[in-house]
Amino acid sequence: MSRPANYTPSRRGMMFVLSSPSGAGKTTMSRRLLAEERGITLSVSVTTRPPRPGEVHGRDYYFVDQQKFNQMVAAGELLEHALVFDHYYGTPAQHVMGALARGEDVLFDIDWQGTHQLAEQCRDDLVSVFILPPSLHELERRLRARAQDSDEVVRFRMQKAAQEISHWQEYDYVIVNDDLEEALGSVRAILHGERLKRERQPYLHGFIDILCQVR
Ligand code: ADP
Ligand code: 5GP
Repeated sequence: MSRPANYTPSRRGMMFVLSSPSGAGKTTMSRRLLAEERGITLSVSVTTRPPRPGEVHGRDYYFVDQQKFNQMVAAGELLEHALVFDHYYGTPAQHVMGALARGEDVLFDIDWQGTHQLAEQCRDDLVSVFILPPSLHELERRLRARAQDSDEVVRFRMQKAAQEISHWQEYDYVIVNDDLEEALGSVRAILHGERLKRERQPYLHGFIDILCQVR
């Protein structure tokens, strides 16, 4: 079936948030989504946390000192910001707003505090997914297998896991990341379903008008 000549699909981008206790797999899932899906871009956060081995400034985070972070907050450059595990994290607004305006989706790897702040500002654009580990034992195994944090940091993050998990009911969707491929399939299904929501396809009004024109 051919489409009317002036059918120009354009849609409203969404803020697609993945949150989880540290180690449940959101970075792994984010990287796969970004590599395999079109039309979605990562929101790279700023943080005062020191880089882990292999992390790249501008790709994984913008690593800044406390003074620079405070300046960004004062200048209103962050869409949300929070203290997580003794370090500050925040979302630079400029990239996100540009992408949404172009009709691109934006992927966020942020905690429940940031998700809450985004929901207060732009609930209609927000889709939030909480990722659970299959067990706390497996969560600790994954944190240790990642081998990027000291024993002390792993213990601290495990202590905080139950507190993080207690926010699961504030999310639109919940996925248990046991089998990675299965969990990724669920994340993709959510993304694709949300893209088809009527209100994310504003061009449909024009399309329907043309579609139903009397011949
Ligand atoms: P987060 O970003 O939530 O802190 P990561 O994505 O860094 O977690 O994952 C922590 C570790 O667990 C990594 O070594 C990753 O390869 C591993 N991992 C992620 N998902 C799974 C899974 N479904 N099964 C086994 N290991 C996993
Ligand atoms: P990590 O230090 O393991 O990279 O991240 C620690 C926690 O901070 C994770 O829960 C991650 O989702 C969260 N985080 C990362 N960037 C941001 C951000 O910009 N804002 C908020 N609120 N949390 C973030």
